[in-house]
Formats: sequence, C-alpha cells, structure tokens
Amino acid sequence: MLFNANPNKGGNINIGLMGGTFDPIHMGHLVTAEEARQQFDLDYVVFVPAGIPPHKDEKSISLPEHRYLMTSLAVMSNPSFFVSRIEIDQNEPTYTIDTVRHFSCGKEPGPEVFFITGADAILEIFTWKDYEELLRLCTFIAVSRPGYSLDQFYESLDRSCPDMRHRVHLLEIPALAVSSTFIRERVTLGKTIKYLTPEPVEQYIKKHGLYRSSAW
Ligand code: ATP
Ligand code: MG
Repeated sequence: MLFNANPNKGGNINIGLMGGTFDPIHMGHLVTAEEARQQFDLDYVVFVPAGIPPHKDEKSISLPEHRYLMTSLAVMSNPSFFVSRIEIDQNEPTYTIDTVRHFSCGKEPGPEVFFITGADAILEIFTWKDYEELLRLCTFIAVSRPGYSLDQFYESLDRSCPDMRHRVHLLEIPALAVSSTFIRERVTLGKTIKYLTPEPVEQYIKKHGLYRSSAW
C-alpha cells in the first residue's frame, strides 16, 4: 500500500491503523476513525481486518474475504480511509507489532504511525508481543466513552516503560454502544440494523445471508 507524502508537512505523513475483526464493521468503528483522523491530523486511516484472531474462536468468525469486502464497502465514501489485506492474507495469527513494522516501513523518516484501539485493550499491552518496540514505533490512540480514566494504566506504564506516556493518548468518543456482536444478534433475530452500519454493508449482509443462524 503506497501513500502520497503530504506536501504541507514537509513530506511526512501520519497514518492511523485500526485493527479489528470487523464482523461486521459498524458506525462505532467509523465514527472513531474519523474523530481520530481529525484530532491527530492523520492523513490516512487504514482499517486492518484480522486474519485469524488469536483471541477468538476461528469457526465463529465470518470468512476473511467477507469481512474485508464489508470493510471496503464501508470506507468507500471517505477519501482518507483505506483497507489493508496485510493480516487476512496471512495463514497464521498476526501480531500488532508485525503490522506496525510493515506500515512504519523502517524508513527514516518513515510515516508516523498511530494505532487506534479500545482503551480496554490498551490495559493489556504489557502482554502483547514486543510491546516495548511497539511503544517506540507507534503512538496509541486509546478510545473510550467519555469519563474513562487511564491514570492507573499510566502508573503501570511508568513502571514498565518509563518516559512512554506520550505514546498513549486517550480519545473520548461520545457514547456509541454499538458493537459487532450487537449487530450479529439483531440479524439473527430478524431485527433491523439500518443506521448501525453503512447501507452497502447492510445490503452485503443480506445478500450473503450472514449471521442468519446463531452459529457465529
Ligand atoms: P465484537 O462485538 O465482535 O467484539 P466489536 O464491535 O468490538 O466486535 P472489533 O472488530 O472487535 O469490533 O473492534 C475493533 C476495534 O474497534 C477495537 O479496538 C474496539 O475496541 C473498537 N470498537 C469497537 N466498537 C466500538 C465503538 N462502538 N466505539 C468505538 N470503538 C469501538
Ligand atoms: Mg470487540
């Protein structure tokens, strides 16, 4: 994936990465990515659907191709949003560090990489592969509903990786309770999912009969 340098920033670019299962992608993901784009001056946000997520039961997840296509449909209308196949084209679970290494390109100066993730997930960063290198390579945007605090997390961070606080920022997103699980449940129950996900994604789910049975 090649991105044009931003002439307004001396050729540097800021890339936001948003990892997830995206089964399916929904308005919560999109609103979050757009807010992060604006607040952190990101030139691009790349959605990275997971291949075989290490923490979820493989059988219960839609095929990577479905998740990739739904994500592509969802980002179509935003010129700053893209989708990467980097993780779904791997046959084995991939780690955040591999994806971040890929996008930071090992170039000097390389693109500035921002990894967007749930604030809950960031609490577990100390269990992630090569987390010290991760904190050196990218800045984390930890998203949460308003009122969440990272104070305790910062204390742990100070103990494990001193001087890394600037690498983790909290981004408050006005309460958006929608989740992929909520959408799948509604489809299984025959309830409407209009406005919870972009219309092309809704149509895709219908066309391919996704989530109709509760086997997910
Ligand atoms: P599931 O219900 O299957 O767990 P999900 O809605 O949590 O799905 P994921 O694909 O697991 O979606 O999440 C991708 C990323 O988006 C994660 O970092 C997660 O914290 C974040 N995220 C999920 N839902 C929201 C939301 N409503 N608002 C902001 N961020 C969200
Ligand atoms: Mg989730």
